[in-house]
Parts: sequence; structure tokens; C-alpha cells
Amino acid sequence: MVHLKHLEWPFFGDPHRQLATELDAWCAQYLHAGHGADIDAECRSLVKALGEAGWLKHAIAGVALGGAADTIDTRAICLLRETLARYNGLADFAFAMQGLGSGAISLAGTAAQRERYLPRVARGEALAAFALSEPEAGSDVAAMQCSAVEDGDSYVLNGEKTWISNGGIADFYVLFARTGEAPGSRGISAFIVDAGLPGFEIAERIEVIAPHPLARLKFSNCRVAKSQMIGAPGEGFKVAMRTLDVFRTSVAAASLGFARRALQEGLQQARERKMFGATLADLPLTQAKLADMACTVDSSALLVYRAAWQRDQGQNVTREAAMAKLMATEGAQRVIDAAVQLFGGRGVKSGEMVESLYREIRALRIYEGASEVQQLIIGRDLLKSV
Ligand SMILES: Cc1cc2nc3c(=O)[nH]c(=O)nc-3n(C[C@H](O)[C@H](O)[C@H](O)COP(=O)(O)OP(=O)(O)OC[C@H]3O[C@@H](n4cnc5c(N)ncnc54)[C@H](O)[C@@H]3O)c2cc1C
Repeated sequence: MVHLKHLEWPFFGDPHRQLATELDAWCAQYLHAGHGADIDAECRSLVKALGEAGWLKHAIAGVALGGAADTIDTRAICLLRETLARYNGLADFAFAMQGLGSGAISLAGTAAQRERYLPRVARGEALAAFALSEPEAGSDVAAMQCSAVEDGDSYVLNGEKTWISNGGIADFYVLFARTGEAPGSRGISAFIVDAGLPGFEIAERIEVIAPHPLARLKFSNCRVAKSQMIGAPGEGFKVAMRTLDVFRTSVAAASLGFARRALQEGLQQARERKMFGATLADLPLTQAKLADMACTVDSSALLVYRAAWQRDQGQNVTREAAMAKLMATEGAQRVIDAAVQLFGGRGVKSGEMVESLYREIRALRIYEGASEVQQLIIGRDLLKSV
């Protein structure tokens, strides 16, 4: 199958090839494209199904805790996201949030934290969220104001978080707050905050163009036990960046999945649509469009799996992950736009696959570092290198 052809690339081992092939077959059998009206219920049921089928084992690290391996396998996560996104955006989201929301615990949690949370994440029994952004601190993470003040055996949280995926349905949130050891990014710590703690409220549910559970969170004198801190005081920013190093590449992988689906849909439409006594595919301008789409898909795939492979070799991937995210998200937007164009009026009709991809892709150019932030990361890294 053409969408599995890249599995022959040398970035992958045989277990990766097997994983992607089996997942593709599972998706074809179990995932339908549309989202139901109740996004929360659909998300919960997708997490349960992904857990029961064993795919969430790849979202955590620790074989003894129900994980597929003792370390996070970036290539496996990227293959999972690419494949899920090709079938169903919400299924990709459900998988991604289990990984992003628990990633800090896998990477830097204590044994007790790992035992308490990770097995339930892997089984699909606990929903995870990652709470970094604030109303006044999005791209500028260091402007964070949400505070955590030490008091006896607890920290007391005050402030807000916004745009939090799984907000309102998550069982726990990995939350970053200012503890003040130093100014800026060096005075931030990471905590695990259970849903339902006194002083923690879902202040607003946020509706977006591609529906996903999303919320603004408010903390008013909310007490979190000291044992819920991940890593050392003041190390929270580092923990967040380590987590994003994995998941930023996986955002690129999800974009790649959306782009592949758009190319697949565009090809089918070009072959089937009759016009001018031939088909849309017979027109040279269509062939040029399809060629551009295919080149973008393959160049994104190469960048995604280079970054994933490099991270799995234990190398720094700050620049490569930023390149993958920038090129794959921006490229997917262009590929999907071209697919909408190939569909003509049907391309903008609600319920068409390309119409939903068009809405689905947009936020990926903004979250986990907007494209401009990725450009800055790449440019600064180039200037640092000799
Ligand atoms: C659907 C969705 C889900 C999300 N999920 C989560 C989540 O689970 N957890 C979480 O913590 N956050 C989440 N976010 C928040 C997301 O990470 C932020 O929206 C993002 O970091 C941008 O922050 P902002 O919205 O405050 O925009 P701003 O920081 O105000 O940026 C606005 C724009 O400014 C431009 N810009 C930024 N920096 C520069 C620069 N240096 N130079 C030039 N231009 C620049 C970019 O075009 C950017 O889009 C989510 C967002 C969305 C839309």
C-alpha cells in the first residue's frame, strides 16, 4: 500500500514496521471518519478503545508499568500519530494527549508517581492533560503568572491556564507554575494536579473550528501535595521542553497523516471526476498539483522520521524537531488546501473528509510553538553552530 511505503526507509526497525501495519489494519476496521455530537463522550470512548487495543502502551515509558518499552520510542509515537491522523483526527488527539499529558511523568517522575499514573494512562483508564499556556503567556512561556507557593507539606496554586486540551475531561493535569527560584523560565516547577481538587475549577469550555475538548482552568488557593512535584523545584521549564522535544515531532507526524489523507482523497477525486470529455486527472495542471502535494508529503515524512530517529539515538533534536514541525504543519496546510480545490464545491461541504481536514490542520501551526517560534529556534540554532 502506497501510504505504508515509507516503512521501508532505514529509520525504522522491524517492530516499527509491524506496529504501523497492524495499526493501519485496526484503524481501517474500527475508526470511522466523522465525529459524533458529544465530543467528550467520543474522546473518552476513543481513549478506552486505544487502551484496550494496546496502542496506548506506546504513550508511556516503563515495561513494568504496562508500557511497550522502558524509554519513549519517538518513532513509534510518530507512526501511531501519523496513522491515526490519516483515519480520524480525534483518535490522533486522544492518543496524543495520553502521551503529552503523561510525558513529563515518564521522563522525570518519581517511582511513586510513575506507578500511580502511568499504568492507568496505558490502559486508557485515566485521561491526561498538559497545562502550560496562560491567557498572557502562550508563545512567551516565561511570562507565566500562575503561582505555586510552598506551605507546609503542600504548594498552594493560584492563577489560570488556558487552551488546555482534554480540559474538563482529564483525570489529571501536568501543570507548570511559578515557584520563583529564579526569574523567568528558571523559576517554574511542574506538578501533577488531580481533577476535582478543592480550588480547581473548569472556568470555561472553549469551542474551536475542529471540535476537541478544550478548557480554561482556574486555581484559587488550590493545595497540591509536595509529593506531586515532578523533578526539582525550578526545573519545570526543562521538564516541559524535554516533553515537547518528543511531542513537537509527533505534531509534525500528525500533520503528515492529515496530508497523506488529503493526497489520497485528491488522487481519488482526480481519477473519478469527469470533465472536458476526460477526467480531472488527465489535465496537466492537476498532475502538477498532485506532484507538488506528493513532494510536500515525502519531504515532511523525511524530516519527521529524521528527527524521531535522531532522538531515539539519544541525540539533541531541538533544531530537527523544529524543522519537522515547521515544514510538516505548513506543508500539510498547503496539501489539504490543494485537495479542497480538487474537490471544487464539494471541498467546502460540511461532512466531506477534505473539509474536516481543512479545519483539523489549522491549530497545528499554532500549538506546541507557532511556526514563527519554530523559525526562531532553527535560526538561533544555526547561528550557534560552528
Ligand atoms: C487547539 C489548541 C489546543 C491547545 N492545547 C494546549 C494544551 O493542551 N496545553 C497547553 O499548554 N497549551 C495548549 N494550546 C495553546 C498553544 O500552545 C498556544 O495557543 C500557542 O503557544 C500560542 O500562544 P497564544 O495563543 O497565546 O498566541 P500568542 O503567543 O499571542 O502568539 C500569537 C502569534 O504571534 C506570532 N508569534 C509568536 N511568537 C513570535 C515571534 N517570536 N516572532 C514573530 N511572531 C511570533 C505567531 O504567529 C503566533 O501564532 C493549545 C492551543 C490550541 C489552539
